[in-house]
Amino acid sequence: MAKPLIINVVELLRWPGTTKEVAVSLDVVDLEFDDSRIVNEPVDVALHLESMSNGISVQGTACATWSGLCRRCVAELSVRMTVDISELYQKELEDPDAYVIDNDQLNLLPMVRENILLAIPLGPLCRPDCPGLCPHCGIDLAESSCKCEISTADPRWGALEALRGVLDDPAE
Ligand SMILES: [Zn+2]
Ligand SMILES: [Zn+2]
Repeated sequence: MAKPLIINVVELLRWPGTTKEVAVSLDVVDLEFDDSRIVNEPVDVALHLESMSNGISVQGTACATWSGLCRRCVAELSVRMTVDISELYQKELEDPDAYVIDNDQLNLLPMVRENILLAIPLGPLCRPDCPGLCPHCGIDLAESSCKCEISTADPRWGALEALRGVLDDPAE
C-alpha cells in the first residue's frame, strides 16, 4: 500500500475552501494494478484537493505507461499517457460516484488506479489513420503497398472482408 496516497484531511474538513496539493512519483508496484498492460515505469500523480460544502474535490492528473498491440497492424505500442482526474470524496456517500472519506483520511490509491485502468484504450491504434495489414498478403500497408485487388463486390473476398471486420473490432 502506497502511504503517499493516504491523505489526512482533518484540516480540510474543518475549513471549507481549504486546499492541499499532492504531488508524488510512485513505483508502479505500489499501485497494485494486477494488469499486464501496465509498464514498469513510475506513476506520477499531481492532485489538487479542495474542501467543498459537499465533500472534498480531487482534481489533477496521473501519468502512467501502458503497452499493447495496434489493433490493425499489430505493431507493439508503449504509450506514456496523462489521465485527467476529477473526483469527489464524501464522509457520507450521497453522490453514487463519490469515494468515501474514511477516518478523516482520503485513500487516493484505488481512485488513481481505477482512473488509469479506464483510460487505457481497449482497441489501441499506433496512429489514428493506421491503414493496417493487407487482409490478403499481410503486408503492412503503412510501409508499402501490394498488388492485391480487394473488392467487396467480388464474392471471393466476402469471407476475408468479414474476417477483417472481426479483427478490426476492439479487443475486449
Ligand atoms: Zn497500426
Ligand atoms: Zn496484399
